[in-house]
Amino acid sequence: MCGIFGYTGFRNARNVILDCLKKLDYRGYDSAGIGVINKDELKIFKEIGELGLLEKKLPPIDVNIGIGHTRWATHGEVSIKNAHPQVSCNGDIAVVHNGIIENFKKLKEELEEKGHRFISQTDTEVIVHLIEESYKDSLKDAVFSMIKKIKGSYALAVLSTSEPDIIVGARQESPLVVGIGDNENFLTSDITALLKYTNRVIYLEDGEICVLSKNSVDIFNWNGKKIEKEIHIVDWNVEAAEKGGFPHFMLKEIYEQPHSLHQTLRGRISEIERSISFEDKVESLLDSYPKVVSIVACGTSFYAGMIGKYMIEQLSGIPTFLELASEYRYFGVRDKTSLVVAITQSGETADTLGALREAKNSGCNTMVITNVIGSTATRIADAFILTRSGPEIGVAATKTFTSQIVVLFLLALKLSRKTINPDELSRYLSHLRELPRNVRMVLERSEEILKVAEKIKDSKSVFFIGRGVNYPLSLEGALKLKEISYIHAEGFPAGELKHGPFALLTEKTPVIAIVTMDKTYDKMIANIGEVKARHSPVIAIANEKDSEIEKYADYVIRFPSDSNILSCIPIAVILQLLAYHTANLRGCEIDKPRNLAKSVTVE
Ligand code: GLU
Repeated sequence: MCGIFGYTGFRNARNVILDCLKKLDYRGYDSAGIGVINKDELKIFKEIGELGLLEKKLPPIDVNIGIGHTRWATHGEVSIKNAHPQVSCNGDIAVVHNGIIENFKKLKEELEEKGHRFISQTDTEVIVHLIEESYKDSLKDAVFSMIKKIKGSYALAVLSTSEPDIIVGARQESPLVVGIGDNENFLTSDITALLKYTNRVIYLEDGEICVLSKNSVDIFNWNGKKIEKEIHIVDWNVEAAEKGGFPHFMLKEIYEQPHSLHQTLRGRISEIERSISFEDKVESLLDSYPKVVSIVACGTSFYAGMIGKYMIEQLSGIPTFLELASEYRYFGVRDKTSLVVAITQSGETADTLGALREAKNSGCNTMVITNVIGSTATRIADAFILTRSGPEIGVAATKTFTSQIVVLFLLALKLSRKTINPDELSRYLSHLRELPRNVRMVLERSEEILKVAEKIKDSKSVFFIGRGVNYPLSLEGALKLKEISYIHAEGFPAGELKHGPFALLTEKTPVIAIVTMDKTYDKMIANIGEVKARHSPVIAIANEKDSEIEKYADYVIRFPSDSNILSCIPIAVILQLLAYHTANLRGCEIDKPRNLAKSVTVE
């Protein structure tokens, strides 16, 4: 997830772009770049690291048109060559891109055969060479011809010295907004960046292309037909806009999950071929079957790992150990025949890096599941799988947790490729495809979850119970609640309550029971009965097809029915919303809970 920006008008483009990129750097901040046209020549400035470093490098320059980018790498390491803008062979065309071009490898080969020289490892670079290849006398037409060849997601801004007064933009599945000014126009990934300059915007839809000059904005549909679009007046203040209109980053990130899950899955599953594919290095690591899998992680990633253990063992039968990274480092059994899978959102969690290094030094094959390309973990491990969730700013992990689970599920399917029955595999693949929709359905129930939050907000202590993958979900639900609402919360395997925790139950201890319609259903109902006998209020999170649950629980929150083991994803979203609303009702500082940090880089 990157931020892109374009400006043409009467102001100094260098300064406007730099200023606006600062508002977009929450979308990515591993490198940044600017391309401007100065006296009919394209000038490109790029720097790795935060935007301030680019600012220091940029000379003052008197220009009125340009494009800018703040990168969150998906293809190719963090380097100056891979930073955007990417430039054509003749140095006349520059492109900034947010998204992923899925068929870039094939296109790159074809373009290389035609003599194009590639200098970066990015997927983006094919875009600029394709435009160069089809450019005759119109940049707009060349962009049209290019988008017919690429597959994937993109928001683009393109600049060319052949038509030095225009910027061409295009959108498919990545956000792109045109800002309308007087004698100036803008193109941006997010209106946040614009509000200082204008509040008049046009939202581009998928398949649309725009051509901006200082005095005009023309929009075309996929067929090349010019269309009229409504101009919206935005009434956000700048601070609200950074959060996309949401009161907190955490809530924004919860709502981003249909998109982030889509990104995690993109290009990795094929229902036609009934296959799962990962990046090359991951594929070669999985060529032979490990005897044992060891998962190492901390915090929320550890709970994702625990869900992964259930998934890998149930699907592939490969014994899977789960260890807290801080313990594994000193006490873990390091067997060379094992595949060690580390999970870390930031790729910088000190305990997980320590465990990963130990595993690698002991000769184990190592893999990391992370959200950040170029992070230390991606450099230590033999292979990495990116969750592609986009930057997560709220300290409480939300969208990265659900993406980690999806990656682990794909890994479990891959490890069971020789034994799984093809129909079962097809069913799982279609459940995966349904996930964004199922999450959207849960998000639509936020008001109902808020009502339940009202019931628990004054409790001193809340219990979460479940069986199978619902046990780690209970742990995560409790962690989320305690970290942002400061209510004491504990998660338990439902069968364990009677072995001790029962002693703590009173009529003032709400118990949140996760009930799925599987082989543990009757046992869960029995456990709920035991809880009710102690007069504790029970809130059940239950399948929408479960017509019995109301008889046993005091309140019910429903999740969509058709996702079996993957129902842990919509349930996780319910737990996140429950924690969020509870913390919000208690007036807590949600995005920055006390005593916590987003990524724990100390042991
Ligand atoms: N795929 C492009 C890159 O890696 C853009 C990344 C993005 O939008 O996240 O440079």
